[in-house]
Amino acid sequence: MTLAQIAVKAEADILPLYRGTPIGDLLRYQNLAAPPGTYVRPEVLLATCLEQQAALRVPEGFAIALHTAGASLKRDPFKVSWAIGVAGVSAIAIVGHDDCRLAELRSQREQFVVQMIEAAGWERPAAEQHFDHWSDLFEVDEPAGFVAAEAARVQSRYPKLLVAPLLYQSATGALTQVVAE
Ligand SMILES: [Zn+2]
Repeated sequence: MTLAQIAVKAEADILPLYRGTPIGDLLRYQNLAAPPGTYVRPEVLLATCLEQQAALRVPEGFAIALHTAGASLKRDPFKVSWAIGVAGVSAIAIVGHDDCRLAELRSQREQFVVQMIEAAGWERPAAEQHFDHWSDLFEVDEPAGFVAAEAARVQSRYPKLLVAPLLYQSATGALTQVVAE
């Protein structure tokens, strides 16, 4: 599967699938400086990577935010269901970022293990086991593929929700839409 990233520099760049939805609004807020709406309940679950420093520009009450490793929701199934079942969101944005080091974690096993021994004071077997236990989160080793795969997984679990894979571009602060070609 080849993936493309579609930038949003104008309303017309927003994919038809996302227009008039909370995902379209998220893109308008972040990329097009749209004026903030008012919200009586959150509309979107916003998953971002715990590495990402800059908060997305969304109005108060618009989103429920989760910061997880690589923006993966694999380890938070109940939080996702709570956001839908109780908070009432109708869309989920999986927002990776272009310089994500968690997405390339698989290639960093030895570095991780050595650092856990030297900096954290762990024994090697414990460090290796810890890495391997958690590394099922990281099946794809580049950010666009990572969010596309995670969005597809979440979509299959919640078929009536709108689930969007997006990437935050750290140089510009803009979000791009990740699509399979
Ligand atoms: Zn990251």
